[in-house]
Amino acid sequence: MKTFNVPVIYRSPLITAIKNKRKQQDRMKKDFTPTVLDFGPLKILLARHFGFCYGVENAIEIAFRTVDENPDKRIFLLSEMIHNPHVNNDLLSRGVRFLMDTSGKQLVPWEELQPDDIVIVPAFGTTLEIEKHLESLGIEPLKYNTTCPFVERVWNKAEQIGEKNYTVIVHGKPKHEETRATFSHSQSNTATLVVKDMKEAIVLGEFITGKRPAAAFAETFAGQFSNGFDVERDLQRVGVVNQTTMLATETQAIADYIKNVMVEKYGLTEETIGERFADTRDTLCYATNDNQTAVTGMLQEPADLAVVVGGYNSSNTSHLVELCEEKLPTYFVSDPAQLESASSIHHYDFHHKQELHSNTFLPAKDQVTILLTSGASCPDALVEGVIRRLLSFYQLEHLADEIVI
Ligand code: SF4
Repeated sequence: MKTFNVPVIYRSPLITAIKNKRKQQDRMKKDFTPTVLDFGPLKILLARHFGFCYGVENAIEIAFRTVDENPDKRIFLLSEMIHNPHVNNDLLSRGVRFLMDTSGKQLVPWEELQPDDIVIVPAFGTTLEIEKHLESLGIEPLKYNTTCPFVERVWNKAEQIGEKNYTVIVHGKPKHEETRATFSHSQSNTATLVVKDMKEAIVLGEFITGKRPAAAFAETFAGQFSNGFDVERDLQRVGVVNQTTMLATETQAIADYIKNVMVEKYGLTEETIGERFADTRDTLCYATNDNQTAVTGMLQEPADLAVVVGGYNSSNTSHLVELCEEKLPTYFVSDPAQLESASSIHHYDFHHKQELHSNTFLPAKDQVTILLTSGASCPDALVEGVIRRLLSFYQLEHLADEIVI
């Protein structure tokens, strides 16, 4: 896979060495067991896959290069570059400004833009409406485009099934930049609807079967369906794509559920299912798949707790947290400094969107085992920081430089 020129502050020689070693040992990516770092009283099990993905490195390379090559220009990002505060703050400190926040709220009025300003499209992509608006302001919208190719792959899939008259159901978070972009591209071809979870998929199933009255659809899915969506007409042939960072198991469950609803409603067989349900297969990206499978692999091992590092608004990171939470006490942190001491940690509850403080962090045992991973937008330097921080609680910092796997 292509390598990118990412600022060295985000790299970690320690983590790079571990990843390279694992890659050499397992070129076909079949082994999802964690890397064991045994320091005696502290054992860290590091996920097989974590950290910056292709799309994030691509976006960082383009954004920082754009800043370096254009010292005399004003540079804007449509919204956060990626969902990591460290990377976003580094760009802000270099003079880049965000036009919108993550939910699409305008931070800099459009009227402030001049035709010779640079506007960078983030890794999530953007909507066709915003592209048109930039054009109307004299700005070439895709000149500095960091949209991830794996996001574009979903748009292509939605377009392909849209052309065959299937309605596109997007499993995603309705307000997330990527889902808004996918929705926009898809609805330019075909009727499109966003469902955020299994609960909404079940409700949708009830509209498909007629259990719920069509008249209630607009209110139930307000803000999540394309203009002119007609429940009677547009739920007869459907296909499911997803925001690339959703929980793989949930997307699969939603696709299976909708497929079964169609089978029952229309009396379909394996041979005829394609008439009503498009085969989209999985539109998750490779990084989401690898990172989630690596967490599942890591969770097979006995451990006391899990630490997941990443931006609080990072979708892919929150799903890693969700997987760990099913089995272990899990701490979602965005920075090593949040691990204050062996007994004190600040962490994030993404379900209720609040920061928490815990006074019972590391258990008092002869050997504490911790599962450690990070999201696709988290620099490896932060994961190394967490390892060093954990070691410091046992006065073992020096061992970080002696790790050999
Ligand atoms: S998580 Fe996947 S889709 Fe998102 S930027 Fe990374 S590689 Fe691209």
